[in-house]
Amino acid sequence: MKLFTATVISLSLLASAWAQANPAGAAEGSGAPQTAPMQDSQTINITRSGSVPSRKGPAENFTGSVRVDPLFQANAPARTSGSLVTFEPSARSNWHTHPLGQVLIVTAGTGRVQRWGDPVDEIRQGDVVWIPPGQKHWHGAAPNSSMAHIAISEAIDGRAVEWMENVSDAQYGAPLRDQGTAAPAPGGQPRPSQRAIGDFAPKLAELTDDVLYGDVWERPELSKRDRSLVTVAALIAMNRPDQLRSHLVRARENGVTQDELIETITHLAFYAGWPNAVTAISVAREVFEKK
Ligand code: MN
Repeated sequence: MKLFTATVISLSLLASAWAQANPAGAAEGSGAPQTAPMQDSQTINITRSGSVPSRKGPAENFTGSVRVDPLFQANAPARTSGSLVTFEPSARSNWHTHPLGQVLIVTAGTGRVQRWGDPVDEIRQGDVVWIPPGQKHWHGAAPNSSMAHIAISEAIDGRAVEWMENVSDAQYGAPLRDQGTAAPAPGGQPRPSQRAIGDFAPKLAELTDDVLYGDVWERPELSKRDRSLVTVAALIAMNRPDQLRSHLVRARENGVTQDELIETITHLAFYAGWPNAVTAISVAREVFEKK
């Protein structure tokens, strides 16, 4: 792997992160492109999980805490490279462009993406985003949720990204695309209860959306992720499968993993009772297999 990191050229979105971490290696734009030499370019090469160290996203290209795990560099004649990028809540890239575009595959959490001049869009685990060539844009986490994506881009003339200015707090905090049209809740959450019960019990829907989701859930004293975890725990303990169903979905959106939720249910078998845990597991199976 030393051979790999020392000679590889940096072609990915996070070219500079890679270069910073490998100062002795070839940096972008210096002379003729090099390729990663392998013992035999005809054989399959497996880069083992965990064999390439994580890097910190450099402050000149990112706001907040960002971790970069290089996945693969371009092997000529291919010119595609990819990295796994993990953004802590509210962390984001600077504005930038990709000469040949970029694909983002969201692997965890909830995030944001915006093209210059367009509204901000929310992106969630499983979403696949195409950034067209030359379009000024940024991507990052949601304010209260981390987000991880695999970023794949092609290099031309040895470059896969052109970095620009940072995304200001005002730009980052702009309303999401959907919030301009549908009546927004105070905290920027969708209005789930209006959809579910608004026509039948409008006051209950209003209280749920404005007080519970618009106020309590938005309070910064607990992260959304923590609120999801305690809410799910309470619903498991009280054996409330109907509410648990929607809160398992919300918990995934707020960055709790499927494995963590299953472990939560397993843990609660001892505190809330075996039947409650078994009911919760069957709800979880239904929710997770549907997604
Ligand atoms: Mn990009």
